[in-house]
Amino acid sequence: MINIDLHSHSNQSDGLLAPAEVAARARENGVDMWALSDHDALSGLVQAAESASRLGMRFIPGVEVSVTFCGATVHVLGLNIDASHPDLVRGLAAVRRSRFARAREIADRLRECGLGECYEGALALAHNPDLVSRAHFARYLHEQGRARSIQHAFDRYLGEGRPAYAPVRWASMGEAVGWILAAGGKAVIAHPGRYRYTPLQFDALFEQFKALGGCGIEVVSGAHTPRQYEEYARVAMHYGFEGSRGSDFHGPSRGRADLGTLPALPERLTPVWRDWI
Ligand code: AMP
Ligand code: MN
Ligand code: MN
Ligand code: MN
Repeated sequence: MINIDLHSHSNQSDGLLAPAEVAARARENGVDMWALSDHDALSGLVQAAESASRLGMRFIPGVEVSVTFCGATVHVLGLNIDASHPDLVRGLAAVRRSRFARAREIADRLRECGLGECYEGALALAHNPDLVSRAHFARYLHEQGRARSIQHAFDRYLGEGRPAYAPVRWASMGEAVGWILAAGGKAVIAHPGRYRYTPLQFDALFEQFKALGGCGIEVVSGAHTPRQYEEYARVAMHYGFEGSRGSDFHGPSRGRADLGTLPALPERLTPVWRDWI
């Protein structure tokens, strides 16, 4: 089997390792084709491509775009993108600006929770000064002893519906898919098993995504259970989507799967990478 992992994060978003370190780990784990797909950021792709090339590993430039659909957040992967395309570059810059506005609100809410001033501290943990995430706030709260774990920081303060959760309007599905297609990439819905939609909303998500030119969904994902591999294989067949495989690696010993270690994509699915081999 060719080992393909098309979803991972570096310290250019909320991952812990530099792009070159993620590349090295992917190669050590036997990955043959690898995508870096940082949240709303393209800044790791040059280093990632150089490292992959040095390691003899096929590199797919990627990004994980934050989208608001039916009032909730959906992540859309752009794979095999031209990272210099102006539509994509400008669109993601706008998303990153809304991250900063939200970070101010999160800090306000944490202060109201009696946790003091967290804005500067969280930003200081963002290796990429242009990309701030809830994960940086979670790490800061953990470091300060305000939460006994990252998970606890989300459960107690930062998760949806918790007191420091600041709602944000991300890109629309149409915008995100438009940027990805303009940049010559494939649009793929990340970890569909993570979303809390009703069956009707899921159907609207998949139908609208497809109508906009989206081509695939993640089936084998570090955020899915083995049951969900089967469930989303059926969904892919039903809607005529290609299937993808990705660990969603964020760093060593960070919850989910390690790079390149998940089971293979079910054979009946057309892989999103079929034309890239
Ligand atoms: P953001 O895109 O800034 O809203 O941050 C979301 C990121 O935080 C996700 O991509 C995950 O990496 C991480 N995250 C979200 N929920 C949790 C959780 N419950 N526990 C740990 N990490 C989480
Ligand atoms: Mn993340
Ligand atoms: Mn995601
Ligand atoms: Mn991810």
